[in-house]
Amino acid sequence: MVFSVRLFEGYKMRDPTAFLEKEYNELVEKALDWRLKEVQGPSEPVSIVDGREVIILCSNNYLGLTTHPKLKQAALDAVKKYGVGSGAVRAISGTMDLHMELERRLAKFKKAEASLTYPTGFMANSGLIPQLIGNEDIIVSDELNHGSIIDGVRLSRADRAVYRHNDAEHLAEVLDEAEKHSPEYRRILVITDGVFSMDGDIAPLDEVAKLGAEHGAMIYVDDAHGEGVLGDGGRGIVSHFGLTHKEVHVEMGTFSKAYGTIGGHISGSDALVKFAWNKSRTWLLSSSHPPAVAAATIAAIDVLETEPQHVRNLWRNTDYFKKAAQELGFNTGNSQTPIIPIIVGESHKAKALADRLYEDGVFVVPIVFPMVARDLARIRVQMHAKLTTEQLDSVIEKMETIGRDLDII
Ligand SMILES: *Cc1c(COP(=O)(O)O)cnc(C)c1O
Repeated sequence: MVFSVRLFEGYKMRDPTAFLEKEYNELVEKALDWRLKEVQGPSEPVSIVDGREVIILCSNNYLGLTTHPKLKQAALDAVKKYGVGSGAVRAISGTMDLHMELERRLAKFKKAEASLTYPTGFMANSGLIPQLIGNEDIIVSDELNHGSIIDGVRLSRADRAVYRHNDAEHLAEVLDEAEKHSPEYRRILVITDGVFSMDGDIAPLDEVAKLGAEHGAMIYVDDAHGEGVLGDGGRGIVSHFGLTHKEVHVEMGTFSKAYGTIGGHISGSDALVKFAWNKSRTWLLSSSHPPAVAAATIAAIDVLETEPQHVRNLWRNTDYFKKAAQELGFNTGNSQTPIIPIIVGESHKAKALADRLYEDGVFVVPIVFPMVARDLARIRVQMHAKLTTEQLDSVIEKMETIGRDLDII
C-alpha cells in the first residue's frame, strides 16, 4: 500500500523524540516519577543507602539468603567451573547440567512431578498464561493480581472476568455466570496471587481450588511472596493449605524474593512442564541463567531444607513487629504475612512518614495512588529474618515519635 502524506511545512525541524522529555517532566510535576536510591553494599537488613547507614525494610530478601555463605560459595564455584554465561537459550545449547539439577531439586522441594525455570517471574507469567488460554477461553482473575499476570492476560486473547479481592463468594458468582452465559468456553483459568504484595494478605486458595474443581477450571497461583515464608519449611502456599498439584495445577513463583537469587519457576504435572517449555516464547527465545545463578539457587533450596531457623526467625520478627505497631495504634490492614502495610490515608502523609523515617535511618517506601486506592496510602514494611529485637525496637521507637508528630497515632 502506498500512503500519500501531505507534509506540513517545517516537519523536518520537528524532534520526533520530544515527547520523551515532555512526558517525563509531567511525571515529575505530579511527583509520580521514581527517584532511585543507591544501595552501596550488599542487600542486608543494615546497609549503606545513598551514603547513609540504614535499616532496610523494603527488600524481598526476607530470609537474608542474598548473602548466605553457602549461596555465595556455590556461585563462586560455578564461575570457576563454567564461566559466567550459558551461551544460549535453553532450547539450543543453554541447558547446562546445573539447570536440570535445579529443576529436579525444585520439583522435589515442591512435591511436584516436575518444575521449570524461566529467566524471571515476570517472564513465567507473561510467557505461560497466553499459552494456557486463547480466544475460546475465559480467565478469571483477582482484582489485585500482580502486573505480570495482567500483562500475561493481555497477551492472551481470552475473555476476562475479575472477582473482588480474595472474595470466594464473588468468585463463585463469576464462575456461575461464565458457565451460564457461555457454555461454549473451551477452558476456564482461575488465577490469583498467593500473598498480595501491597497488603500482605493470603489468597483463600483452598476455597479457590474447590470452586475451580466444581467448575472444571484450571487453577494458577503466583506465590512470589509466599515462598520461603508460608508452608512446611517455606515450601509456599500450596503446602500451607495442604493442597497438591492435582488441585492447584500451576504453582508459579520466583527465586528473586526469599530464595535470594533470580528466576521465575513453575511446578506441577509433567505434562504442564513439557507443554510450558515447548510453548512459552519467553522460555524459548530468552537465554538461560548464568551458571552462578543456577548453582546459588540450588544452594538456596539446600538451605531451606536444612536450616529451618531462617523461616522461624522471619515469623518471630514479623509477629513481634506487627504486635508492637498495632499496640501503638498503627493500622496494619489485613496483613497475615511479613508484608506489613502501615496504612495512613493520604498520600502526602505516607510520603512524609517515609521521608522522616529515612532521615532517622529506616528505609521504607511510601505506596500511594495508583498502586493503592487514594485514601489508603501507606508505607509498606517487609520484615527480615536477620533483624535483631534491638533493631526492631529502635524502628518501633522512631515510628512512635514520627507517628505522633504526623498525627497518625
Ligand atoms: C515480584 C513478583 C513477580 C515477578 O518476579 P521477578 O522474578 O522479579 O520477575 C511476579 N509476581 C509477583 C506476585 C511478584 O511479587
